[in-house]
Amino acid sequence: MTPDNTSLDTFRLQQHRYFLLIAFEEAEKSLLAGTFPIGAIIVDDDGQVVGRGHNQVFSAEDSTAHAEMEALRDARPLRVDAAKKRYLPRSHTLYTTAEPCLMCAGAIIMSNIRQVVWAANDPANGAIRLFKTLSWPDTAHHILHKVQRLEVIASPFADLSARQIELMKTWNASRGRPGDVWTMKSEPWRPS
Ligand SMILES: [Zn+2]
Repeated sequence: MTPDNTSLDTFRLQQHRYFLLIAFEEAEKSLLAGTFPIGAIIVDDDGQVVGRGHNQVFSAEDSTAHAEMEALRDARPLRVDAAKKRYLPRSHTLYTTAEPCLMCAGAIIMSNIRQVVWAANDPANGAIRLFKTLSWPDTAHHILHKVQRLEVIASPFADLSARQIELMKTWNASRGRPGDVWTMKSEPWRPS
């Protein structure tokens, strides 16, 4: 029996939740290590987890060690065809607990990731929604094309958004900045 569109959407939503929860396992590792509690995983189009990463900015003293960058590095044999000297076609979904920043958004786009799903919007450092709403004077710009093709599912679950905000509150309190509140909007966002 072929599932109807509604049950297919429900199935996909359950899949997204399942993989976001794995990304949260990574975020918890960061919290324990004393750095930004953000985790990410990369899943291939058959549903296999092929890369995992968690923020290590303070634990590794590396400002580029964001969760998404670490996950991309972990999955790196799968992103390029070294023999043919070319990037692989668009594929894979990157799940992260918070909206990717400018650096990670660039890395995701340049790596031909097909889809990105995040638990909580980040109105301070999140860049993908910004990228999606920008327009370039030169509409033939290759990067604009790549940004437009990136599929985005932003903050689909209110409880997982709240979970990420709580992680950030705990982290900020632990580093003596309890007043730093990540004022994220939990409502879903769709590209226009
Ligand atoms: Zn980042």
